[in-house]
Amino acid sequence: MSPIDEEQIQGLKGLRDFLKKRTSYDVLPLSFRLIVLDNDLLIKKSLNILIQNGIVSAPLWDSQNSRFAGLLTSTDYINVIQYYCQFPNELDNVEKFRLSNLREIEKAIGVHTIETVSVHPSRPLFEACSRMLKSRARRIPLVDIDDETGRETVVSVITQYRILKFIAVNTEQHTSLLKKTIQEIRLGTYKNLATCKMTDSVLDVINLMVVHNISAVPVIDKNNTVLNVFEAVDVIPCIKGGAYDELKSTVGEALTKRPEDFQGIYTCTEGDRLESIFQTIRQSRVHRLVVVDDDHKLRGMLSLSDILKYVLFHGEEGDYFPPS
Ligand code: ATP
Repeated sequence: MSPIDEEQIQGLKGLRDFLKKRTSYDVLPLSFRLIVLDNDLLIKKSLNILIQNGIVSAPLWDSQNSRFAGLLTSTDYINVIQYYCQFPNELDNVEKFRLSNLREIEKAIGVHTIETVSVHPSRPLFEACSRMLKSRARRIPLVDIDDETGRETVVSVITQYRILKFIAVNTEQHTSLLKKTIQEIRLGTYKNLATCKMTDSVLDVINLMVVHNISAVPVIDKNNTVLNVFEAVDVIPCIKGGAYDELKSTVGEALTKRPEDFQGIYTCTEGDRLESIFQTIRQSRVHRLVVVDDDHKLRGMLSLSDILKYVLFHGEEGDYFPPS
């Protein structure tokens, strides 16, 4: 085994030990806010609340049964849009839908429900990551039981982004050992890439995301040069106020509606080492990286789940996932 291979294995082992020693509580900042939405809220109103608060997801609360009722994410709005497309005469009904109707919408359009897994905040972070990756969710709610009432309490929600940031900030001694390039470790997706053009309609791109089960589509020109990335969260401003007709507008128009503090897109090349990808994560708000060549032409997509999966499971055998 080459010294680079050995270092890589040592780095991964260090990261896994770190994730097994730390808990989800450790990832939370000292002070944070949590916006929980009542399951009885109109879907239309929930959109405005997300936009006003600059967030893209929220836990749902069933106040009749005092129970955690799942997580609202941009996928739910994409489902509502698909429902509207499949049943265009039902706009009046769509307007009246409440968050508690989301499961019925999934059934009506025949999509697979994302299992709402949660984890106790004091369980090892490794377990939270495994559960999240297993369910294909991009975030996991931390649910505790209140000692006095015996009822569930949602403490917070942690995302892949937050976990990778936590790893990147706290484990430089391990991540600096990851000297192999993303090409060498075949990290990311390079075949059957879903792409779009600036002139494509938002609806077409939403369909691509649904068909490929992805949350970002690179926007390229006719020469395959990367211009931008359309993300699932970009759908939210498009349907603000129930303006479903805006979905017929182009990707280019939709991208102008991004919040002012939008951080931009991040790219890397196949020759970049995982070490330097972690450096980018440490320094910036990265939600995915577009892999480009020296001429900025599209080569592939590197998602946070690709990185997290590699960190947790590369080289391991068997079933890594703890029972739910
Ligand atoms: P998020 O990006 O929301 O954090 P994620 O990390 O699961 O979620 P997705 O974008 O849903 O990322 O990617 C899921 C899988 O699909 C990954 O293996 C990724 O490499 C691949 N992928 C991402 N974007 C595309 C695309 N445009 N075309 C084809 N495959 C893609």
